[in-house]
Amino acid sequence: MKESIYSYISSRSGEFIEISDKIWEFAELSLNEYKSAACYIDFLKKEGFSVREQAANVPTAFVASYGSGRPRIGILAEYDALSSLSQKPGIANQQPLVPGGHGHGCGHNLLGAGSLAAAVAVKNLIETGKLHGTVVFYGCPGEEGCAGKTFMARDGEFRDLDAAITWHPGDTNEVTTGSNAACLQYLYSFQGQTAHAAGDPHLGRSALDAAELMNVGVQFLREHMRSCESVHYSFLDVGGPSPNVVQPTASVLYMVRSDNVRNAKQLLERVHNIARGACLMTGTTVSIRQVDGTASTLSNTVLEELIQKNLQSAPLPVYDRKELRFAEAIHGTYTNRELPGTAPKFDWKVKKLVKELTADGHKAVNDFVMPYVPSDYMSPGSTDVGDVSWLTPTAQFNAATWPSNCPGHSWQMVSTGKTSFAHKAMLYAGQVLAGTAYDLMTDPAILEKARAEFEDTAAGGYDCPLEADLVAEPAAV
Ligand SMILES: [Zn+2]
Repeated sequence: MKESIYSYISSRSGEFIEISDKIWEFAELSLNEYKSAACYIDFLKKEGFSVREQAANVPTAFVASYGSGRPRIGILAEYDALSSLSQKPGIANQQPLVPGGHGHGCGHNLLGAGSLAAAVAVKNLIETGKLHGTVVFYGCPGEEGCAGKTFMARDGEFRDLDAAITWHPGDTNEVTTGSNAACLQYLYSFQGQTAHAAGDPHLGRSALDAAELMNVGVQFLREHMRSCESVHYSFLDVGGPSPNVVQPTASVLYMVRSDNVRNAKQLLERVHNIARGACLMTGTTVSIRQVDGTASTLSNTVLEELIQKNLQSAPLPVYDRKELRFAEAIHGTYTNRELPGTAPKFDWKVKKLVKELTADGHKAVNDFVMPYVPSDYMSPGSTDVGDVSWLTPTAQFNAATWPSNCPGHSWQMVSTGKTSFAHKAMLYAGQVLAGTAYDLMTDPAILEKARAEFEDTAAGGYDCPLEADLVAEPAAV
């Protein structure tokens, strides 16, 4: 049966590649993915899926389902791009396609289309009576700049699933294990009083001073946080370009990370207090507004083992000489030669094996399946897949759509994302997802075991990282 799933996806590969390339061309930013969402919705409707649009009141979120009853398996998709990363495809030097334009620097064009391939393959099996149950394709917008899945989770999505699976473009074929940090994103907008900086400085109250003092205060906080915690910031407003005007406004966007939402909220309160202290020092005021938030990720080793089996049984991409030359050319544009990024979780034996498989990090293409080692290693980054993982057993993996060590959110990723090199890995990811969904829908024992593990790890319950009345808005991407 798996072979027929793989060949079904291969037989329709042209359609999935076309969608991926279209989304690449649209390159729409977080929460502006109108054309991208419409493209998926049209395709899914033609395939017979019933589509609920504007899920969680987010205009570009949707939920498409096919079939009936249980098991109910969710497949997650993303489709937002990143700003200022426009790049001509298929070349190994940086050349914007549209100066100042956007680009798919995280490969979400591939992510969505690979997930689509899987959902359509599962739908085909249900339609022909070879599978029973429901497949649900989640159109999740704004992964980069608003955490769309978190808003969907707050609104009650994902809870009715038996399991959720997804993938992300990467530089290895590898199950994701361990956890990700919870993250709270807040905007601090300071308000002061403008004045002539030389003529009436005593009348001015500088919002920029307040923002700077807040950042200094947070610098001192960093020494007294737990090692799993981090705080990052960027200036969104510095109050104007003139040094001869006391800046009446300034705003700083903060990300506050910890190992779970509860701890992140506690750390956040200390950051809030630093902002308030900066106001006292400068005679200014601050308004504090949440932008988004993501929960930590719960791993599910039962689903991870299943994905590993499917990574091994689906046919790995075979590259032709032109594709390999391109990958090597891209690989030659950066000097990073580390072993695959999740190596910290490995013991020395696995590290040795990874070293061999990657030629000590020098191989341009990681054309093999990484060994699976379940881990509780917490990756310092965050993802809104975390929120899904608190609501249903969830697992994810990477497929090697990029040459090894390709820098994240880079022009190299945009350039590769519309080439046959990336398409092959995208179709492979679709085959792995579809194979995994097939196993989940035909072997109730796996779902039961996955559920039992989930009930243990998620026993504390989902602590939503969003304030109750927060409306989804794009943040800086
Ligand atoms: Zn991404």
